[in-house]
Amino acid sequence: MISKNSIQLGITEEDIFSEVTHFLLRKNNRLFSNDQLIEKTGISSDLIFKWVKSGKLNSSLFPNLGAPCEKCGNLTNHSKICRECSQSITHTLKQEEKDKIWFDKIQRKPLKANAYRHKF
Ligand SMILES: [Zn+2]
Repeated sequence: MISKNSIQLGITEEDIFSEVTHFLLRKNNRLFSNDQLIEKTGISSDLIFKWVKSGKLNSSLFPNLGAPCEKCGNLTNHSKICRECSQSITHTLKQEEKDKIWFDKIQRKPLKANAYRHKF
């Protein structure tokens, strides 16, 4: 139905998008996964990934469509990275922030002293 050949026929990505969303919004199609959608429409998985990542395919409307997490590669509709990875990244960032504050504290005095000596 929708294939890469369609693009050569002058059908734009927007045309494909509206056709795919119409298809998905039909009864019982809303919960399709990537694989089911690809099987039924012949759309490329890259397009689905692109639309999921850009938020064009609303994850609350189509909860089973996803794009690969940029960290672990599991399909997710959470954001660019899956929930598990974003939790671990948030944790790491918090820890790094703490380390930075600690590092700044211990660095402050000697740095100022050096600058002072260097200036005069
Ligand atoms: Zn992940």
